[in-house]
Amino acid sequence: MRPLTEQDIRSSFVNCSKGEAKRLAVPRDLGERPWADLDFLGWRDPGAPDRSYLVTERGDRLVGVALRYPSSQRGFLHRSMCSVCLTTHRGGGVSLMTARKAGTAGREGNSVGLYMCTDLSCSLYTRGRKVPDSGMRIEESLSLEEQIARTTGNLSAFLDKLYV
Ligand SMILES: [Zn+2]
Repeated sequence: MRPLTEQDIRSSFVNCSKGEAKRLAVPRDLGERPWADLDFLGWRDPGAPDRSYLVTERGDRLVGVALRYPSSQRGFLHRSMCSVCLTTHRGGGVSLMTARKAGTAGREGNSVGLYMCTDLSCSLYTRGRKVPDSGMRIEESLSLEEQIARTTGNLSAFLDKLYV
């Protein structure tokens, strides 16, 4: 994806208020992110451990999503698979993230859940640039391009649900 600025990021959120988008913690190392290898920018909020965010491109538009995950689920010891990049992790490597829906549905309290790599590094796992600490990726018969298309397709299917 193309490199993003703090302003790009703050103006991209579709499921939180403008005030929240203005205040949330944007990574300070935007200049050092491996943009060419990212399908989306994902990060944890250092000041609010139950919050994560992701921003991705859809067509010529940016879509930012605020995610939450319950603190009680950290430390799980079973193995689980990320539904975006299909990497399997042990421990807390995969979390059930929830996103408030966009628009009226979100304001009425509706949300969508997704099992996803807790560190939001799906793009790097897909490309083999990061290996799970304890876990594995399934044996792939797909080419790297096909795996990337699958990851972005899975993410896109999740984003669609925010608008239903
Ligand atoms: Zn993942």
